[in-house]
Amino acid sequence: MAVTPQPGILEIELYQGGASHAPGVENVTKLSSNENPFGASDETRAAIVASAHNIHRYPSTDHRPLREAIAEVHGLDVDKIICGVGSDEILTLICQAYAGPGDEVLYTEHGFSMYPILARMAGATPVAVPERDRQVDVDALLARAGAKTRVVFLTNPGNPTSTMISGREVKRLAKGLPVDCLLVMDGAYVEYVEGFDGNVKLVEARDDVVMTRTFSKIYGLGGMRVGWGYAPQGVIDVLNRVRGPFNLSNTALAAAEAAMRDQAWVNKCRAENTRLREWMGNALAEIGVPSDASCTNFVLARFADTQEANGAEAHLRGQGLLVRKTAGYGLPHCLRITVGDEPACRQVVAAIRAFKDNLS
Ligand SMILES: *Cc1c(COP(=O)(O)O)cnc(C)c1O
Repeated sequence: MAVTPQPGILEIELYQGGASHAPGVENVTKLSSNENPFGASDETRAAIVASAHNIHRYPSTDHRPLREAIAEVHGLDVDKIICGVGSDEILTLICQAYAGPGDEVLYTEHGFSMYPILARMAGATPVAVPERDRQVDVDALLARAGAKTRVVFLTNPGNPTSTMISGREVKRLAKGLPVDCLLVMDGAYVEYVEGFDGNVKLVEARDDVVMTRTFSKIYGLGGMRVGWGYAPQGVIDVLNRVRGPFNLSNTALAAAEAAMRDQAWVNKCRAENTRLREWMGNALAEIGVPSDASCTNFVLARFADTQEANGAEAHLRGQGLLVRKTAGYGLPHCLRITVGDEPACRQVVAAIRAFKDNLS
């Protein structure tokens, strides 16, 4: 008889990453995983190389220099910062520490597909709450949250919707949730909104709100796997008990610290992203492919129906342009297109135009 895993484990559906290959095409343009098309900054790359000199040493267990860099740049309390192997690890630790069998973990209809996986890993029950026209619906979340709800995941701005809700709405959500329930503000795309702090003040004002951030998007370090969280002291103390002491390598710590201190690179990448996402959104709208105004580094392109979206995806793939299908996110008539560099943006729009022309 086969050995039985913990309850919930066999209900986990494997995470599907963005495509990175197209059959028969050698040089693909990957616009399927919301990566920074310009990569990591020069300073960051130099720090990665330099880290080879002390790679025989175990890394620090408290990540102090990286936490100090984050605290200085964002004006935060260094003691309330925790670093993880991508923000995914922080989200994993939260579920592990705060949710278990019989508990519910809420997320929104089009939310990140890791949330139900993490809930099931902890033996808890994931619950998808409807959105309204691809916008998080705070009233629906408040109506669904109950005595069993331990964790609520809010991606703001959202993936793959690219929309965001106001700070006032997030505050209303935090205030209205039941006691003994943690609100997790997943801020993977916060940096793409000029001047936005991810509503971090809510973390400081309450004892039940957490913010997570990542080095995988605007910092161009998706392959390095570093993220961080900002949380009330009580939550930090809990998460540190379940975190592996050597979760981040010397190289990852050095890369992230250098990246955090190089805000000039972040500003440059943000400006270019803002310019190109606007151009791409407008250019697609002109050829009959609407999208919501994006607050992220991607555009959620809406096609007439599922068939048209699938046809466009296949057409793009045939030219080595890889975008993300969003059927798994409850949006089968859409494609999520990462804002690449200017040539990539122009190529993808030209290819969709040709596809649309062929239809008529
Ligand atoms: C990309 C992304 C993350 C980042 O995950 P990492 O583990 O930090 O790479 C987190 N949440 C959402 C919604 C994302 O899209």
